[in-house]
Amino acid sequence: MSAPHVVNGAGIQVGAPRPLAVLDIQHRGKPGKWADRGATYPPGARLQDPHIEEVDLTHRYVLAADRTLRLAGFNVAVIADGAYRDRWQRSHDYGAAVHVACHVDSGGANRGSVLYDRRSPNGRVLADAVADALGRAVPWPVAAASCGPDTNGVPGDEGERGFSVIAGLYPLRPTGLVYEPGFIDSRNDQHRALLAERPELLGVALARGIAAGWARLVANAS
Ligand SMILES: [Zn+2]
Repeated sequence: MSAPHVVNGAGIQVGAPRPLAVLDIQHRGKPGKWADRGATYPPGARLQDPHIEEVDLTHRYVLAADRTLRLAGFNVAVIADGAYRDRWQRSHDYGAAVHVACHVDSGGANRGSVLYDRRSPNGRVLADAVADALGRAVPWPVAAASCGPDTNGVPGDEGERGFSVIAGLYPLRPTGLVYEPGFIDSRNDQHRALLAERPELLGVALARGIAAGWARLVANAS
């Protein structure tokens, strides 16, 4: 029998031997939208044309994150089916520590972002750590940013869209993050090539950031 875990006010389980990270491949497996592949490059490519799909890049980096997280002492569950609100509930039921909504962005920019629910102090710690790890792994700027239902009053902006995919996680555990490590259609050639050829880098960075951020939360809680 294992010792009971101490749960502090922020919901961090001190001494839990292997925290669970849920990596959620978004777009894939949404009921009624089985063909949703996320963004494509070139944009608007037909199925029979050569092109890159967001869900394939996401899948590749999620596998790398899975391996790296397990080496860092986490358990990992990868999910890629169900309505988003059902995925949140499953994560909660699993007792997950972290839930990452995994994407690749579109819109041509040359940057990456890690979003967290602005109500969640733990989200901020984890997002900062993941942004820091990704920023060391890629040549473009990466920032953590908070999101909410009306981030800055611009309907449909990045923060609002990000919030819609993690909104139901708070105040449930786990802590939710939206990972948008880069742009599938970046106007920067080096950026686009790195995403297409080495998406694993993005997953390793995600895992290292989660491990570093989690260590910080546990240290704060003990
Ligand atoms: Zn997406």
